[in-house]
Amino acid sequence: MDRQQEFVLRTVEERDIRFIRLWFTDVLGTLKSVAVAPAELEAAFSEGIGFDGSSIEGLTRVYEADMIAKPDPTTFQVLPWRGERHGTARMFCDILTPEGEPSLADSRNVLKRALARASDKGFTFYTHPEVEFYLFDAPADPSQPLVPVDQGGYFDHVPRGTAHDFRRAAITMLESMGISVEFSHHEAGPGQNEIDLRYADALTTADNIMTFRTVVKEVALEQGVFASFMPKPLADQPGSGMHTHLSLFEGDRNAFHEPGGHLELSKTARSFIAGLLKHAAEITAVTNQFTNSYKRLWGGAEAPSYICWGHNNRSALVRVPMYKPGKSNSARIEYRAVDSATNPYLAFAVLLAAGLKGVEEGYELPEGADDDVWELTDAERRALGIEPLPATLENAIAVMERSELVAETLGEHVFDFVLRNKKQEWEEYRSQVTPYELRRFLPML
Ligand code: GLU
Ligand code: MG
Ligand code: MG
Repeated sequence: MDRQQEFVLRTVEERDIRFIRLWFTDVLGTLKSVAVAPAELEAAFSEGIGFDGSSIEGLTRVYEADMIAKPDPTTFQVLPWRGERHGTARMFCDILTPEGEPSLADSRNVLKRALARASDKGFTFYTHPEVEFYLFDAPADPSQPLVPVDQGGYFDHVPRGTAHDFRRAAITMLESMGISVEFSHHEAGPGQNEIDLRYADALTTADNIMTFRTVVKEVALEQGVFASFMPKPLADQPGSGMHTHLSLFEGDRNAFHEPGGHLELSKTARSFIAGLLKHAAEITAVTNQFTNSYKRLWGGAEAPSYICWGHNNRSALVRVPMYKPGKSNSARIEYRAVDSATNPYLAFAVLLAAGLKGVEEGYELPEGADDDVWELTDAERRALGIEPLPATLENAIAVMERSELVAETLGEHVFDFVLRNKKQEWEEYRSQVTPYELRRFLPML
């Protein structure tokens, strides 16, 4: 038993923890949880806890249904919303096969493999997400129009507003679980909010995002409202993105920063951006995984639709934020396509792989876009070499299917599962006759 494991056992006893939830994430990014009693913990650390993986999205084929969840003691946290007495704690798990090998179907393992490849090259990958979401009156009934909790807009201070109290409660809870929050504000849509997590290594960030979504849902329940991370819940309002800031470190040194370089960016950063741009279309089915994601990407309101980069250009897919003098660690780039409903483990894995490919192959960074690329005509964009992101999930799947980079990064099992699952989602979606079509066509046809 190592020291971390001993610490967990001691804390469980001292704080009267009665349930330990073992958390893991299925391929579609849904959090799964199984609770064990404190008496089971030692065994969980040494052998893991067996469970039937066959009913979990993407985890196993039916004929190899037995899987093992092995908790990572460094992720131990008490769940504040479960109360102090007879408390509940959680740990994230790695999923193993019955033979004790890391499961090829485990998203956390997909990210770990991608991080290990970066680490072979001497790099640590840091990320920080800006998570946007909506708050609606509860219960949110899909057959009725959604009612946002307020009519506020960007950075609005809504007096005695639900959102204000909400953010305070959510942030307090996150901080008590060791997740630092950098900024939070009302976003542009009514009832829309944003909370930005402080940067951390990508595995910690991905775990933090899973916790974040749970905390936001819990606080919403407590406050009698409904929180949604759906990419585009309201057709005529901005969608919810999860802009992600990325940087590579070599030891303590930010490998993206070069004092005096163009925009203070190093060659590594420039090639990394070039890699992201070159492979952007291939990774979109992962960063934007639902049919609804494309309504955000192509619905205006500052969501990126075109593959280009720019300095402080909010219409670009990759934005290079203003450099803060003297803050070498903060030199970074922002990838703006990702939405709040992505599986963060898979999204970070493909973003890293795309960027790293650019670094390894020494891709040249194309000219940056100074203009508002939404305002240009198709011909102007073509002349500048600016391609669109996939317009639908169907397009995105078609590009991903041909991508060696994504196949290699996700591994055959997850790659095949995602393709199969997303084709099914597209078929189901495509075959709907929507209220819109009835309104539009029934009177005239
Ligand atoms: N909500 C916008 C999006 O979907 C982003 C707004 C912003 O710039 O923060 O990406
Ligand atoms: Mg925002
Ligand atoms: Mg942003």
